[in-house]
Amino acid sequence: MYDVHVVGGGPAGCFAGIGALVSGKKVLLSEEHGQIGEPEACSGLISRSGLESLKPYVDYKKIYLNTITSARIISGKKEFIIRPKEEIAILVSRCELDKLAAQSFEQQGGALSLGKKVTRNFSAKSIIGADGPASAVADYFGFPKISSYVACMQGNFKFACDDPHQTSIYLSGKDFPGFFGWAIPIDESHAKIGVGVSLPKHPIAHYKRFLARLGVASKPESEFAAVIPTSVRKRTAMQKNGYSILLAGDSAGQVKATTGGGIFFGAQCGMLAGKNSGAPQEYEREWKGKYGLDLALHKQFRTFLNMNGGEPHPLLLSAAKSFFFEDLLSERGKMDRWGQMLTPSILSDYTKIVAQKITGASK
Ligand SMILES: Cc1cc2nc3c(=O)[nH]c(=O)nc-3n(C[C@H](O)[C@H](O)[C@H](O)COP(=O)(O)OP(=O)(O)OC[C@H]3O[C@@H](n4cnc5c(N)ncnc54)[C@H](O)[C@@H]3O)c2cc1C
Repeated sequence: MYDVHVVGGGPAGCFAGIGALVSGKKVLLSEEHGQIGEPEACSGLISRSGLESLKPYVDYKKIYLNTITSARIISGKKEFIIRPKEEIAILVSRCELDKLAAQSFEQQGGALSLGKKVTRNFSAKSIIGADGPASAVADYFGFPKISSYVACMQGNFKFACDDPHQTSIYLSGKDFPGFFGWAIPIDESHAKIGVGVSLPKHPIAHYKRFLARLGVASKPESEFAAVIPTSVRKRTAMQKNGYSILLAGDSAGQVKATTGGGIFFGAQCGMLAGKNSGAPQEYEREWKGKYGLDLALHKQFRTFLNMNGGEPHPLLLSAAKSFFFEDLLSERGKMDRWGQMLTPSILSDYTKIVAQKITGASK
């Protein structure tokens, strides 16, 4: 009955469904939960440029919670503040984002099936596995395993935020081995506070210690635990037993290994999976060509940080400050598309920043 069966109704699945519909396919999207977007297991922080790219389908102004204009990175006694000129982040309701994406999918003629887990009874020969980090579709068809995950806990707390538009990131190999702790303001008096640690470590003790360190004594208004893949699967598409199977989003490991952010890449690669449904090689070639370098650079930086347990070497932050990297990142930093920072013009920008700082300091 259907040309394409998308398994999973998160951002990757909804945008895969939209991508397939746009290219004229008849699409079924199956979500195991009774409602799209629930339960919510995400902070919902996305670059404004990323949200703009989804705007034809999801109007983020309807799901807006807060604007984040700077990031304070704390490592031991050292701090590093990035105030991006352009690359501002927006905090949205993640649950509502998924709902709006699913509505767009249905408005374009897609069929939605809720409340049924799909592990093998597929409704089309062309399948898109967008079923999250523990993908049953990937397991069923024998895709190579994802080699690294982080385990996270996050709660929404009453929390006095000094700057309600500044997110704080805590790096420490001992407190957050392999990842980091965060506090993302929702408004002046509420924040999303969480930690991530490399699996197989468990986050609970780290989470409790972090809440104590921040002086959070109140009970969370909501709380969850979830995992994030921090490496891309070696293979994300194949033909097998008469099926064409494409993986998108967390199921493919299309996540920034630096921060665990996966909405932008999941949605974009989902759209490409939909467009290339039935054509595994084309899909793998297209998504890697567009986003492979970005994800590889995030992974390289994560690997570098994890050489010291997830914490920059103390000398690194001093060096980064001394060489004005804060200014360079504020001027030209990108949240998602790190590959776009590798341009010759960035070197010239950097030279200008250093020259301005040196002449400014000598005046
Ligand atoms: C603590 C935490 C904070 C995060 N914060 C951010 C953030 O601020 N910004 C950001 O960009 N990313 C963030 N992420 C990552 C982001 O949540 C994921 O990368 C994103 O959800 C991936 O989308 P997806 O559609 O691939 O998978 P999912 O969102 O996991 O969606 C998969 C869907 O498939 C369904 N499903 C699973 N198996 C089946 C099955 N067999 N049959 C039918 N349905 C099935 C699930 O119910 C789910 O709805 C965070 C993650 C965590 C854990």
